[in-house]
Amino acid sequence: MGGASHGEDLNHGDDANRSGGGSSVSFRCGHGASRGEARITIQRDCPLCMLLSETKRSRAQLLRKAAPSRRAALAGETRIGASYEWICERGHSRFEATVREVLTGPGCPKCRANAQAPSARFEGGIPFMKPGLKTRTSMTEQRLRLLLAERIQLPHRVNAVRISRTFYGKPEVWPDIIIPALRIAIEYDDPGRDGTAHRGLKEASDREKDAALGEVGWEVIRVRAGGLGELGPHSIVCRGISTAVIDRILELLREIRGDEPVDALLVR
Ligand SMILES: [Zn+2]
Ligand SMILES: [Zn+2]
Repeated sequence: MGGASHGEDLNHGDDANRSGGGSSVSFRCGHGASRGEARITIQRDCPLCMLLSETKRSRAQLLRKAAPSRRAALAGETRIGASYEWICERGHSRFEATVREVLTGPGCPKCRANAQAPSARFEGGIPFMKPGLKTRTSMTEQRLRLLLAERIQLPHRVNAVRISRTFYGKPEVWPDIIIPALRIAIEYDDPGRDGTAHRGLKEASDREKDAALGEVGWEVIRVRAGGLGELGPHSIVCRGISTAVIDRILELLREIRGDEPVDALLVR
């Protein structure tokens, strides 16, 4: 199928379905009217499925971006001009946009504004990728990330959060795990081999890091192992990383941000 006629097809598909729920068009992908009710059967995928394949995404990926209450409708949607409520991956407020806008651009008005204003790109609270950062990751930290990634979607392309002050001379902090959609960072602390990490002065530095994240709207969950006590309002004191610790993290995510945004991130 050629590019030019493709675009026309998409618009045509939009028109064909504009009359709403009682659509009489059935598409090859199975969306639209059921075969029995269809007055017209079109031997190609619906406009939405075509745009998904053009932008190399699956319907499941698109559904995860939508507000949970809108997912059932979106699952059968054929029109790329249809408007839905979406959840911003970077933790901005929910926004209304068409399927086309979400598949072809940032969709979220705040993300779009950030992308258009390079000076504002590093607004406080915005997570970003700092190349070459933090090569030293402990086995325990990796295990925590792996186990957590079995339960909720963790982004790979962010490792730093811009703050509105400086921390060790930098306008950003580098939490162990970042969940942008929830604006929650997870830190794993243990006393380390020499038994001094995260104690004494370093504890003060951990507190300062939490405060810097708090100022830009982030919350921190601290997993505290190896005999370290609680630090901050969301501490999990444990012997090591276990399923129980992961369960507790999920509970805390829900306590802090509510069920809906956490459900949106669950691995199915
Ligand atoms: Zn379809
Ligand atoms: Zn956004």
